[in-house]
Amino acid sequence: TPEHRTALVTGGASGIGLAIARRLQKDGMRVAVLDLDRPQAREVAESHGLTFIGADLSRREDCRRAIDDTVAALGSLDVLVNNAGFQHIAPLAEFPEDTWDTMLHVMLTAPFLLSRYAWAHLTRSGQGRIINIASIHGHVASPFKSAYISAKHGLIGLTRTAALEAGEQGLTVNAICPGYVRTPLVTGQIKDQARTRGLNEADVEEKVMLEGAAIKRLLDPEDVAALASYVASTAAWGMTGAVLDLDLGWTAR
Ligand code: NAD
Repeated sequence: TPEHRTALVTGGASGIGLAIARRLQKDGMRVAVLDLDRPQAREVAESHGLTFIGADLSRREDCRRAIDDTVAALGSLDVLVNNAGFQHIAPLAEFPEDTWDTMLHVMLTAPFLLSRYAWAHLTRSGQGRIINIASIHGHVASPFKSAYISAKHGLIGLTRTAALEAGEQGLTVNAICPGYVRTPLVTGQIKDQARTRGLNEADVEEKVMLEGAAIKRLLDPEDVAALASYVASTAAWGMTGAVLDLDLGWTAR
């Protein structure tokens, strides 16, 4: 067995993915991040000593190549974190059909394809891990987010199915469901809502974003990374098929 476990984190050039990549690196793993092939994403990754894999997860052939490139760069693959995602807000009757296709591909089909292509490497590991970053929106809905919520609900189903198939080979498959986390994805929504509702940003955070939460404070990406670190660790060998809520009490109601 290699001295260091290895990990691939998708959407790893920003927000939650970057925090997870850095945390797994701190835990002693060799880590690659996959993100859209843009100079800035590569710079972010390389400035943290992370291997950069440029790929567009809405394309099947990029998913295949990303796993090949990762194994070529790291020599093995023990941990796959499916994290890349994005939001689009529109009423269902007006929801752009191409945007639906892209969102379902990036947030549901790509996790399936990457799991499929990485399966042999992850099972060979003996302590393989697939960690799918879902959302509270994998459990419950909000209006105007039909594609995101459908993809995240589907990702929980994929997680549970893969867990059943992987158990005999020491490969665990789990989902993490965060509430609102302070990342570019959310700060963008706060700005939009402040503009459209005529509120200041602090009020949008507390009165709009955190309305359903018991703890009225946004999560930080590092909070999600700490949970991912535990799930990725060899100590968590017995946890599989779990859907782990980290949601400020949102779904307790
Ligand atoms: P983010 O926008 O900061 O980062 C997402 C990353 O995914 C970006 O770097 C982006 O370039 C990448 N990405 C998007 N489309 C891609 C594609 N086609 N191919 C490759 N990479 C692509 O967002 P974040 O808030 O860190 O979100 C990360 C994950 O966490 C997402 O799946 C999101 O749904 C989930 N999540 C976020 C929150 C939150 O409040 N921020 C809450 C629950 C779940």
